[in-house]
Amino acid sequence: MTIRTRVAPSPTGLPHLGTAYVALFNRAFAHQQNGKFVLRMEDTDVGRSDSESDQAIQDALRWLGLDWDEGPDVGGPHGPYRCSERLSIYHELIAELVAIGGAFYCFCTKERLDSVRANQRQQGLVPKYDGHCISLSKQEIQTRIDKGTPHVIRLKVPIEGNCVFHDTLRGAIEIPWGQVDMQVLLKSDQFPTYHFAASVDDHLMEISHIFRGEEWLSSCPKHQLIYTYFGWQQPELIHLPLLRNPDHSKISKRKQSTSINYYRRCGYLPDALVNYLATMGFSMPDEREIFSFQEFQDAFTPSRVSTSGPVFDIAKLSWLNGQYIRNLSHSDFQKSLGEWAFGDGRADAILRLVQERTERFDDVFAQADYLLGERATLTAESFNHKKITSDECVRVLYFSQLLLEHLNQRDGELISEAFKKLAAQLDLKLRDCLFPVFVAISGRSVSLPLFDSMQILGLDVVNARLRSAIHVLGGVSKKMSKRLDTEWHQHATRLINTTKTE
Ligand code: GLU
Repeated sequence: MTIRTRVAPSPTGLPHLGTAYVALFNRAFAHQQNGKFVLRMEDTDVGRSDSESDQAIQDALRWLGLDWDEGPDVGGPHGPYRCSERLSIYHELIAELVAIGGAFYCFCTKERLDSVRANQRQQGLVPKYDGHCISLSKQEIQTRIDKGTPHVIRLKVPIEGNCVFHDTLRGAIEIPWGQVDMQVLLKSDQFPTYHFAASVDDHLMEISHIFRGEEWLSSCPKHQLIYTYFGWQQPELIHLPLLRNPDHSKISKRKQSTSINYYRRCGYLPDALVNYLATMGFSMPDEREIFSFQEFQDAFTPSRVSTSGPVFDIAKLSWLNGQYIRNLSHSDFQKSLGEWAFGDGRADAILRLVQERTERFDDVFAQADYLLGERATLTAESFNHKKITSDECVRVLYFSQLLLEHLNQRDGELISEAFKKLAAQLDLKLRDCLFPVFVAISGRSVSLPLFDSMQILGLDVVNARLRSAIHVLGGVSKKMSKRLDTEWHQHATRLINTTKTE
């Protein structure tokens, strides 16, 4: 049997550390076994997927050296490798699944589903689909389709008994069918959900082993059902332990940067980051912590993967990166540093900003220090201001994070427009509203133009600086973040929609 593995990110945001972590195991295993490693873009969520994210994920994985044998850009015998380009395949197979009785049309309205779920919650039950449309006659279905009634197609799930599936690290896992929802497989927009697309694609792409995060364990019964209905053989499943924040919660961008680009921008070397990610959940037979990808690939065996959640600790990563930097030859050090500092047109963008503000060459680096390296360390006093209180600073910084995240792009004009609206909504003068943002980003209240600086730094670094500024100001408690989130939703829809369409 040819070993075939895959990583299947959804292009809905910045390239996530978790994608690299999962890719690493899939690639190492496939190549160790002379197999193939596939990249598949799961852009099943039309509203959230975008081509910039798709490209950024590919760039980030390539930067880490985790390239693929088959994928959207390089093609391969099982393409296309992007879900949105495979719709006709899903449509054909969903019709087959309905015909063999594994799925059914559902015409329930959102209002009906909401009220069913609310009732179930009231009774202390786990909310799930109640099977309302499961026995509609063929004729009834056709009449509703002919009338143009919006519908989805759902998976038929047994009511009784248990699903038993096998995970290589955990052995047999049993989940009562009663806990498994009748999952939507084809949405009303005619796109498949992740569950249907992933099952179909894994089968058609002849994937033999799936290494993925343990958050997908609860989806396995649904996938297993799809495989069983079609009479396909399910790939071997290896669910890797989730990366965790130092407080052991699931790694999240609210607590630390999860974007690969952030680590790239901060000057971590790709080999060091790959090495560190490989130590998450895996240990070398001789327990050494520093090893190359090739050494990892040679030594890898699923039995050395642990199931307890590894902590992604930036201090440890920095230590490891330091080992790699010290091991570089002097000329490689110069080359890597030069590429890091001046690559991607960054130097040019920075110099264009400083030239018109420079009287002597020795002004240049002092003005641009926060664009080239880390900004000055902040204290609560850095945010002292006559017109805006420390609490307001936190509020502005918190909303700035949300705003930038929603805009999810680096167009300076658009960011500037959005901030003007934010200031108006918060009833602040633009200048006062931007004060804490200037400090958070540049370390001072006056710097090179703020939005150009943000573009040069990139969303990942900007977000990390905003987050650390909030932390310096005492942080945001759970209660406070709930209040701020509610407040945000009140202005946000208008603010983001109007900004996007203008
Ligand atoms: N698209 C899913 C993700 O973004 C893939 C999950 C899987 O590997 O099955 O993580």
